[in-house]
Amino acid sequence: MTTTCNVCGTPSGAPIFESSEAKSLTTMNSLIEGRTTVYFCEVCQHAQTNELPNLEAFYSTEYEINIDSEDDDQLYAVVDGKEIYRSQHQANVLISKIDLSKHRKVLDYGCAKAPTLRSVCEEIPEIEPYLFDVTDKYIPFWERFPTKAKWATHAPDPSWQGQMDVVLSFYALEHIPHLDRILAEVSMLLKEGGFFYFIVPDMYQNAADFVVADHVNHFSKASLWRLMADSGFESIEIDPDAHASAYVVSGRLAASGALAPTPPEFLNRSDDAKQLATFWGDIKTRITTFEGAVEADMPLVIYGAGIYGHFIYSCLKEPRRVSHFLDQNTFLHGKKIDGIPVISPRELRSEPAAILVGLNPRHARRIIEEIPSLQTPDRKFLFLS
Ligand SMILES: [Zn+2]
Repeated sequence: MTTTCNVCGTPSGAPIFESSEAKSLTTMNSLIEGRTTVYFCEVCQHAQTNELPNLEAFYSTEYEINIDSEDDDQLYAVVDGKEIYRSQHQANVLISKIDLSKHRKVLDYGCAKAPTLRSVCEEIPEIEPYLFDVTDKYIPFWERFPTKAKWATHAPDPSWQGQMDVVLSFYALEHIPHLDRILAEVSMLLKEGGFFYFIVPDMYQNAADFVVADHVNHFSKASLWRLMADSGFESIEIDPDAHASAYVVSGRLAASGALAPTPPEFLNRSDDAKQLATFWGDIKTRITTFEGAVEADMPLVIYGAGIYGHFIYSCLKEPRRVSHFLDQNTFLHGKKIDGIPVISPRELRSEPAAILVGLNPRHARRIIEEIPSLQTPDRKFLFLS
């Protein structure tokens, strides 16, 4: 099967990674059939994952991030013991980047419950919010928006064409193979000079993004720039620092016929992408070697109830040995993963345990060091790197 780059169309060469297991992990922490294969485009520095045949079924049944309630948000950071949730941080960053009191017609494209735009509207009441998602199941949330919103489901309202000052997209483009179609639709909705503003994951900051089967696109600064310039955007800004493990991207729709902007120099990510392939290639061996070395009567504890924690759990030879998952996200406390309770790290009793740390390897050691209750002498730790 020939594959071509989702961004620049160049035929893909040999994959840089193929998972050893016949099942692949998704962002919903479930496993689906099929091997994850990752390609890297040397022309535009875009990495992409093959689409597994069961992805469609996965989206229609499982892909429901935080449908439960308005407040069931994802933890973004813990700063001085205070939890900051993702949508609030996204709202703060957006407000800092675009003057929304001047650019008021704001469409959240593929918005689900639109928690970020909701926060922004609470801050800036002049905004005229527009909401679009393919499904109508979020309408009850949209009806309770702080500012009266216009919305459409299945397809954007044709009367919105050429009207929008800002189109927003949060964590969507990584799921979509046909990027050209989405970019064409967004361009059609925007006014000339209007902003396309979006957030996508940065796998170079968070290794898990490399291996999840439902993320078919893994962008780099270079491939994001190429995507935006080829779609008629100018004043392109790609910020890898404003949001942890993500790129915050914006650009303004140029007048038709305007000259494409000249690309800046970008760091070559080819070696970094191949390092990620090596990291994921031998991770299962490292986990099972650690498991085998822990005394049989010592309980296993997994720190992190997110993607890394689930990945570790899926690799264990004897998953029944796991007594608890630990996580700082208070929304997860009291929940169970495969019957195993998720508790706060503070609740872990002081007896010996082997702790497998399922956190982003870039931050794992610092996070664990900051939790004094974990630092007792009889504790063994496995860090993924
Ligand atoms: Zn490419």
